[in-house]
Amino acid sequence: MIETNIDNKRVFITVTVFNIFCKFRQFDKKDHERGGVVLGQVAKSSGDILICRASIATQYDKSATNYFYRDKQAAQQIIDYEHYNSEEKNTYLGEWHTHPSTTADPSGQDLSMIKRQFLENKLKNDFIFMFIVGQRELFIGLYNGNKIFSCALPIHN
Ligand SMILES: [Zn+2]
Repeated sequence: MIETNIDNKRVFITVTVFNIFCKFRQFDKKDHERGGVVLGQVAKSSGDILICRASIATQYDKSATNYFYRDKQAAQQIIDYEHYNSEEKNTYLGEWHTHPSTTADPSGQDLSMIKRQFLENKLKNDFIFMFIVGQRELFIGLYNGNKIFSCALPIHN
């Protein structure tokens, strides 16, 4: 389990999810950006956040070396499936995608995307996550409708 702290919330990421992020890193110039949705659970008492599911790109998504647009319907099917198969414990928590660079800084487009997702998506919590996966860095952004809190974790392997 990977543990970090954002906006005074404890965030836990399972190794499985971290490995999915790492697996799709763009090392080759021809690699497309990849991404999907992240799901997990927020503990009622502590507010601790568990990120325990990440979807991978589907055939319906659009991508190139420098962008990734996930298909809305395909993502909703994954969200519904995961929700149902976790006894309604896992809910949609946000988005992830890769960047073809060492570090993982959100672009202007990424920032407007996450703000739009916050407004448009059905959220169970009052925040949304944006994970960006660089070759050697994982950026984690948390947007609460007002401000983006973030941290960056190194990826060693
Ligand atoms: Zn991006």
